[in-house]
Amino acid sequence: MFCPYENSCGGCTRDYSDLPYEAQLQKKEQLVRDLIGHLTTVQPITGMEQPLHYRNKVHAVFARKKGRIISGIYQEGTHKVVDVEDCHIEDEISSRIIADIRDLAESFKIRIFDEDSGQGLLRHVLIRRAFATGEVMVVLVAASFSFPSVNNFVKALRTLHPEITTIVLNQNRKKTSMVLGDQERVLYGKGYITDILCGKKFRISSKSFYQVNPVQTERLYGKAIELAGLTGEETVLDAYCGIGTIGLTASEKCKSLTGVELNPDAVKDAIFNSRENGVANARFYAEDAGEFLERLSRQEQTPEVIFMDPPRSGSSRKFLDSLVRTAPKKVVYISCNPETLARDLDYLSHQGFRILEAWPLDMFPYTGHVEVVSLLRNEQHPGENNHA
Ligand code: SAH
Repeated sequence: MFCPYENSCGGCTRDYSDLPYEAQLQKKEQLVRDLIGHLTTVQPITGMEQPLHYRNKVHAVFARKKGRIISGIYQEGTHKVVDVEDCHIEDEISSRIIADIRDLAESFKIRIFDEDSGQGLLRHVLIRRAFATGEVMVVLVAASFSFPSVNNFVKALRTLHPEITTIVLNQNRKKTSMVLGDQERVLYGKGYITDILCGKKFRISSKSFYQVNPVQTERLYGKAIELAGLTGEETVLDAYCGIGTIGLTASEKCKSLTGVELNPDAVKDAIFNSRENGVANARFYAEDAGEFLERLSRQEQTPEVIFMDPPRSGSSRKFLDSLVRTAPKKVVYISCNPETLARDLDYLSHQGFRILEAWPLDMFPYTGHVEVVSLLRNEQHPGENNHA
């Protein structure tokens, strides 16, 4: 058995975690072939050399069980907390920090939040570790900002873990499955961490999206930018851009870069990141990607290359229809959900786009998730792609 929690946890997927890694890769590649093989050529999957402890973001929920505090994750589809001591896919330093926060909460007599009664204080902890710089962010999620002896708590935690570079207290009062609330106070440090990806520095704040597997992310972005075949002359749109990682990585290879992203915190990070990296040809906007692209299409502004990296639900119809109207030469679609990718590629393949190739990549070993990057060419601009 790969993991002692696999019957109750739900974080990994049993169908995969019971298989040797090579077999997991084959199964994922086949899944992608089954879903989009009729639309395009599916290339061999890119796996990891060391597929363990790859997650740079670790979340734990606290609960009280038989008089002691436990930390772990919700059992799939329930509010029952499974006590997780040692997870094979999560960052080990972050796991140790979580175990110590749990022990400190016990010795500081911090009340643990109870989902059913809505009473208590400490709810979750979220840790992000920047693998390249070693910086660590701890986000304590509590039902209120009145955290007793908070300064001593922070001091004790920093003494145990001097590698922690920032600690944030996030207030979440709501009865919700969302981990983070809206309001935050920085208890220690800058309130964000900085990582290095593809040779560029990226500020990541607590509520911004950041890819959880940096080793594979560099390969993913490398492939996406290679497929775009940029020459330095193109206008590029990075849609669903998060903190600007894909676009800023591509910024030296294009004429101008525009990024659009719904989360205003992530957009602030992206703007900061463009300055920090001395990128002068980039602009970022906080808006729904579909509305933004619709406006571009109305103004007859056509980015030549569009990178799109939507969430698991895939792209909106508004975005896809605007993509068709805007008619960029090339689209590089990066997807973390092959089912919605298949739906969107199928639609675009009937609207003048040819799906030239697709590259699966394993971002999430031991789980059922798979990433795919695919290249689309607009048939109104045939013969302009050397990947055809
Ligand atoms: N390309 C980035 C982020 C990908 S995750 C990276 O590689 O890190 C998907 C992003 O889409 C998230 O940052 C999320 O906040 C954003 N998002 C979700 N819905 C959106 C919408 N309707 N319009 C624009 N961005 C959206």
